[in-house]
Amino acid sequence: MFALLRNRRRRRVLTRAAIPDSLWNATLAATPVLARLDSESQQRLRDLALLFLHEKRFEAAGGLHLEESMRIRIAALACLPILELGIDSYDGFQSVIVYPDEFLVRDREYVDDDGVVHSSDDVLSGEAWEQGPVILAWKEVEASGHGDGFNVVAHEFAHKLDLLDGTFDGMPPLHAGMRAKEWIAAFQAAYDDLRARLERGEETWLDPYASEEPAEFFAVCTEMFFDVPEEFRTEYPMLYAQLSAFYKQDPARVA
Ligand SMILES: [Zn+2]
Repeated sequence: MFALLRNRRRRRVLTRAAIPDSLWNATLAATPVLARLDSESQQRLRDLALLFLHEKRFEAAGGLHLEESMRIRIAALACLPILELGIDSYDGFQSVIVYPDEFLVRDREYVDDDGVVHSSDDVLSGEAWEQGPVILAWKEVEASGHGDGFNVVAHEFAHKLDLLDGTFDGMPPLHAGMRAKEWIAAFQAAYDDLRARLERGEETWLDPYASEEPAEFFAVCTEMFFDVPEEFRTEYPMLYAQLSAFYKQDPARVA
């Protein structure tokens, strides 16, 4: 759409509105991965979160009472991955739906490797579809961003970034200066290694869920990148370097 108009509107939002201090401070206090950002980054995150709150529609589902403090916490967590990428990265969708707890998706259809269509009932803590809403369980949002390797918000929004090029394949559109060959080499090796370890019945540092498909691998790695960056850099230095180039952040340095 009209970028000039949109940018003017965004500037107006930023000069006329603000996330109240008390609610912002409560968000930081509840979310250690945001609290450890330097103050300049926190201010940028606060601006992004404000734009996010203005531009996205929040919908409560399953009887949830969605308070302002909850919307702010979701917006702040959602904007961490795009801290250096900008709010434009989230232009492709309009709404965020929040359930109180893990939610049931009935009759989910999927096609297996042999082309057979199955349907099942799935219990999910979050979900993101191309051009569709991001769906989150509040209980899982509350557990996100504590620096212990869990962040459903980073996970679902990583899917949105992955989908920016129209494919759900674990490879978002790379920036100028990044090489697809290096990205693929780093990710493929780690992904194959994870699957091989799981096949041998070994314990793995990454959640086995990451082995489901490359898109999930990227989303789980994004969670770890922001939540336990130092450990992630030690376990997967090549992936860390690629994610650091993509997100334009070096969270292990500030952690
Ligand atoms: Zn996922």
